[in-house]
Formats: sequence, structure tokens, C-alpha cells
Amino acid sequence: MRKNIVAGNWKMNNDLAQTQDLITDLENKKNTGNAEVMIAPAFTNLFSAFNALKDSPIEVVAQNMHFASNGAYTGEVSAAMLKSVGVKTVILGHSERRAYFGETDQVLAQKVDAALAADLRVVFCFGEELADRKSGNEESVVSSQIKNALFHLDASAFKNIVLAYEPVWAIGTGETASPEQAQDMHKFIRRTLNSTYGDNIAESMSILYGGSVKPANAKEIFSKPDVDGGLIGGAALNANDFYAIVNAF
Ligand code: PEP
Repeated sequence: MRKNIVAGNWKMNNDLAQTQDLITDLENKKNTGNAEVMIAPAFTNLFSAFNALKDSPIEVVAQNMHFASNGAYTGEVSAAMLKSVGVKTVILGHSERRAYFGETDQVLAQKVDAALAADLRVVFCFGEELADRKSGNEESVVSSQIKNALFHLDASAFKNIVLAYEPVWAIGTGETASPEQAQDMHKFIRRTLNSTYGDNIAESMSILYGGSVKPANAKEIFSKPDVDGGLIGGAALNANDFYAIVNAF
């Protein structure tokens, strides 16, 4: 059965003290819904976040990693390094990584392979740009992003992958895909999975929506049958807002 997940992507926000403060605020909240909760602090704060949340159901996940296991890759972090500080899940393919750091589908395929080989779960992000949607190409863009990065995998690998559809035009812009647009795309993603991997995989994958999810719109978006949760940016930096979204399930 697929799981409901709400993941907070903190991006390059919060130093060590701010991370500890936000974690304290989050721990004072009650998860009254039925979604798993993840937070993704910056690399430098993963270790302290993991220790602070060791006995909590909130999972601490990473925002990125390199595909190599070690070596001359200045500034990068490997899967083994993430695991050594307690991380079990990594976000890959975020549109900011693609846009600002040149991550291509091919690079992402290597990162996915490295993460899975290290027994990390992957939250794999993808989504079309505004121009793609305006020209009606959103489905072909999304299907090629998924196919190029994931469709070399065996079916068994998909139990360790969560998908996150994040239309680039909705990230950090205050503009959200309508619940219907999200549902249509999530259904299309399941059809795409189904055509290669069959119904079981297509139906068992959790597909999150990301893009300006806020307390005011979360319930309606999450009510759609193919939306299994959210990847939350801005609203994840405030414990009240984040838990209002978590508890929208
Ligand atoms: C994100 O960064 O993944 C995201 C969805 O950001 P926001 O919620 O701020 O649009």
C-alpha cells in the first residue's frame, strides 16, 4: 500500500541554532493525520537534527548527494557520508538542483543508482517549466524526466522510491497547480509507470505534489485520489504552517 508523506525541504535555510529551534517547535506539534513526516535540513545540520529526532517519528532526510562513493569532488557529499549521520532517505532531482547546478536526467540516473545501491530511499523530483505547460508539453517533459532517470531500474527498486511532481512554475511562486492539474498529472504518472512496470508498481508508488502548498490549500490538493502527500518548501520553515499541512491528511 502506498503511504502518505509530507516532507519539508528546508533548502539553504536555518543555521545550527535555528535548526534546533525549529525542531523543538516541530516536536511540540501533534501529528493527528495519517502522513509520515520528513524534514530535510542543510547538510551541516543533519547530524544534530538526526540526534535530536532519534526517538521521534519525524525522519531527517538529505536534500542532495553526489553519485560517487568518494574522491576528488570538492564540496560534495556521498551516500555513505549521509548514512554515517543516520540519514536513510535523500531528495534527488529538485528543480533548483537541475536549474542552478546543471543536474541532467543522466546525472540524476547515476545519483539514483548510487543512492539505491547504498540502501537509501529516494524522493525523486521532477516537473515541467511554465513554457512547457503553456505549449501543452507538460506530459511529454514529465514522462521523459521519469523515464530517463528511473526506467533503467528493475521493478524491485521502486519500493525504495517516492516520486515528487513539482511543476517549476509553482515552486516558491505562490502559484499552485490546481488540485485538478495535480490529480491529472499524478494519474498520468501512474499510467506511465503502469505501461512499463505494471499495475502493482503504478498503484503502490507514493506520488507527492510540490509547489506552494500552504495550510489554506493542502486539504483540497491532498483530497485528490492520486496525490499521496506533499513536498513543502516555504511553509516547512514554520512549525505551525507545516503541521497544519501535515494534519490536512
Ligand atoms: C520545493 O522547494 O520543493 C517547494 C515545493 O517549495 P515551495 O513550497 O516554497 O513552493
